[in-house]
Amino acid sequence: MLIVKKFGGTSVANKERIYNVARRCIEDYKKGHSVVVVLSAMGDTTDDLLALANDINPNANKRELDMLLTTGEQVSVSLMAMAMHAMDVPAVSLNAFQVGMNCTSRYGNARFKRIDTDRINHELDSRKIVIVTGFQGITKYDDYATLGRGGSDTTAVALAAVLHADLCEIYTDVDGVYTADPRIVPNARKLPEITYDEMLELATAGAKVLHNRSVEMAKKYSVPMVVRSSLNESEGTVVKEVVKMEKMLITGVAADKNTARISVIGVEDRPGIAFKIFNKLAKNNINVDIILQSVGRDGTKDISFTVSQDDLKDALTILEENKEPLTIKNITHNEGVAKVSIVGAGMMTNPGVASKLFEALFNYGININMISTSEIRITVLVEESEIDKAVRAIHEKFDLAE
Ligand code: ADP
Ligand code: ASP
Ligand code: MG
Repeated sequence: MLIVKKFGGTSVANKERIYNVARRCIEDYKKGHSVVVVLSAMGDTTDDLLALANDINPNANKRELDMLLTTGEQVSVSLMAMAMHAMDVPAVSLNAFQVGMNCTSRYGNARFKRIDTDRINHELDSRKIVIVTGFQGITKYDDYATLGRGGSDTTAVALAAVLHADLCEIYTDVDGVYTADPRIVPNARKLPEITYDEMLELATAGAKVLHNRSVEMAKKYSVPMVVRSSLNESEGTVVKEVVKMEKMLITGVAADKNTARISVIGVEDRPGIAFKIFNKLAKNNINVDIILQSVGRDGTKDISFTVSQDDLKDALTILEENKEPLTIKNITHNEGVAKVSIVGAGMMTNPGVASKLFEALFNYGININMISTSEIRITVLVEESEIDKAVRAIHEKFDLAE
């Protein structure tokens, strides 16, 4: 069997944990399996590197930022190989260059384009454990680019897809995917299985247990995927196309604090204006989320929308620079907002899910700023200070606890 095993930052945070991971990988190797290991940077390394950069230059160039961030993963893979060598097991660490993991040139948010398999297969054929840096790719300019925070999950799934792995295991610091972040809702329930579609919505809505693009890719290439703990032997959560579970009204609740609201005030109320505003933002790679447009009055209207906090500065600059052609009278923004979402295929066939969600928030006096929905998700924007309360209120209302 060929197994891809990915371990997150907490799982390789120190010497003891590195050896723990090495042992788990060697166990599979000794059973005769081919083992590819994908690692994140140790502990809080990526955050620490970002703080270091911010201290030197708060407007650091994105290419240089990625040059810096990719060092974190290189440290963990080489140390892991050394640990395995100390246990007399042949292993080799490889970075994105050495593997040939080609990606787009969007620094900080790159996507894989093509991954070479020759080097990895060659090393596996000579019975080595292959340890690959997560989170990074190389661009057509031979530069490093990173895949966005949490991107090592995507490295693992991408490798599992191109190597036709039998299994992709994502090891983390919780026992699997829960009905809500167990750090916010202590009595959240572990899901034995979840569909790709629901997991993708949860991840996109902020459940950072999996990088959303890893789920997108797992679905596209039918990669068998499981999320489990690196610290115990519990079964974990299987992510797959169809699940057998009893149908719940909703599957889980997710929160996302990395969001900001922008309002453009007094724009002309005529066809083409919304197009021009959002086209300008899209051309600059800014993703817009929930959109709310006011009813037109005296020939003008207001449009509010959310962007991720990382994009806020750029979005405001672009709008400010184009105030006149876009007919914007005034621009306001608010970083103190957060999104809470419920996800579940059950809501397609059950009316009243939205009203139950609104009742849960009403019961706790939480005001709703904006709403957006998809077939299997409802998202509302609330004050950031109330987000944990909102998650708990909803979790309780839908009876999701153990
Ligand atoms: P890693 O470093 O292993 O990639 P992450 O910190 O990226 O780990 O993701 C794991 C964290 O995701 C957990 O510690 C947990 O707090 C958080 N999380 C958010 N939502 C969920 C959920 N629904 N189920 C499980 N964990 C969740
Ligand atoms: N080290 C990177 C991060 O902290 C990638 C990852 O952990 O998946 O975002
Ligand atoms: Mg992660």
